[in-house]
Amino acid sequence: MPDASLQIQQNISLAPFTTLRIGGPARYFAEVRTEDDLLDAIAFARKRSIPIFVLGGGSNLVVSDAGFDGLVIHVAVRGSITSAHQSSLVEYTVPSGLDWNSFVHSVCEQGVSGIECLAGIPGTVGGTPVQNVGAYGQEVAETVSSIRALDLETTTFVTLDNAACGFAYRRSIFNTTHRGRYIVTAVTFRFDPARVPQLTYADLTRYFGQSQPTPLEVYHAVREIRHKKGMLIVEGEPDSRSAGSFFKNPVVSPEIFHHVASAVGLPADQIPHWPAGGGRVKLAAAWLLERAGFVKGFVMGNAGISSRHTLALINRGNASASDLFLLRDAIQSKVKALFSIDLEQEPVQLG
Ligand SMILES: Cc1cc2nc3c(=O)[nH]c(=O)nc-3n(C[C@H](O)[C@H](O)[C@H](O)COP(=O)(O)OP(=O)(O)OC[C@H]3O[C@@H](n4cnc5c(N)ncnc54)[C@H](O)[C@@H]3O)c2cc1C
Repeated sequence: MPDASLQIQQNISLAPFTTLRIGGPARYFAEVRTEDDLLDAIAFARKRSIPIFVLGGGSNLVVSDAGFDGLVIHVAVRGSITSAHQSSLVEYTVPSGLDWNSFVHSVCEQGVSGIECLAGIPGTVGGTPVQNVGAYGQEVAETVSSIRALDLETTTFVTLDNAACGFAYRRSIFNTTHRGRYIVTAVTFRFDPARVPQLTYADLTRYFGQSQPTPLEVYHAVREIRHKKGMLIVEGEPDSRSAGSFFKNPVVSPEIFHHVASAVGLPADQIPHWPAGGGRVKLAAAWLLERAGFVKGFVMGNAGISSRHTLALINRGNASASDLFLLRDAIQSKVKALFSIDLEQEPVQLG
């Protein structure tokens, strides 16, 4: 039986727990504040043989209108951040339910560099290793030292070091080989206090010119740039009801790359692209959308495209998941018809 401290609610609408503000109900819903709560929630689901879904800040998530016929475990493990010194390095261990941006701010305020370019990414600390979040030339894999998680195969808490997490571009074992196996309860980050921000992205080097900014200055600059691009959640702004970039940048064969060039009647070197290893080419999903007629501000019923960011599909007010999926499907089939490319959805889909 669940401990008295854990409340399991029924038929809870999931829409308010997502940044898209879309989605039907969870049959059962538990807000988990401690590791003991988490064990109780797992026992509850196992006793009833129902599936579980782990919810952080709901910022990389699309929930269907039917919702989820199982137990949603909302990770709200909060509490204080602990610090430790390892020779010249400093480590912070952060409960997974804390707000990511607040943690970034507190680290930058101390003059410590390493995650300042990841300011303004919504969601929880525990959500960041799942897709190895990254922006403006940084990703969490560079500073994650270890992860504490509940291993659902053994029902024990384990510590995974950085190598065990299998980090790669927008990937980790948590969203690939071991999807659904671990529930992250804390993340330990390691920083070198002697390090200064290293800016590699043009947006930031332009912003600061020749000067060497502090981590806190970079934090504020990144938030300002993200705001201009509609990639910062600001309550009340319509472009904020999104799940960030909705499509991944596709990696294609040289043949497809040349097919795209001939389809738009441009020389290949005028098409935004990057080498992706093994002779393959990464294309900009946003460019493909625009060429297919899905431009900023595009409207399809209650769903649409952000007025500031081509890749962000938005809920214009009362959109259902079906409205959003109609737009997603229209984009995917037009891009496929024009360029023979299957665009892959980035946010996790539930239901
Ligand atoms: C406006 C906007 C801008 C964004 N910008 C970026 C960006 O620049 N770079 C980037 O990489 N991402 C970006 N994102 C995507 C998103 O913010 C990140 O992926 C974020 O880390 C997701 O965390 P979350 O807590 O909201 O996870 P959720 O959306 O709640 O969950 C996402 C996945 O992680 C799993 N999960 C969540 N918490 C845990 C846990 N504690 N243990 C195990 N699994 C867990 C869930 O089961 C689900 O599969 C953006 C999103 C928005 C809305």
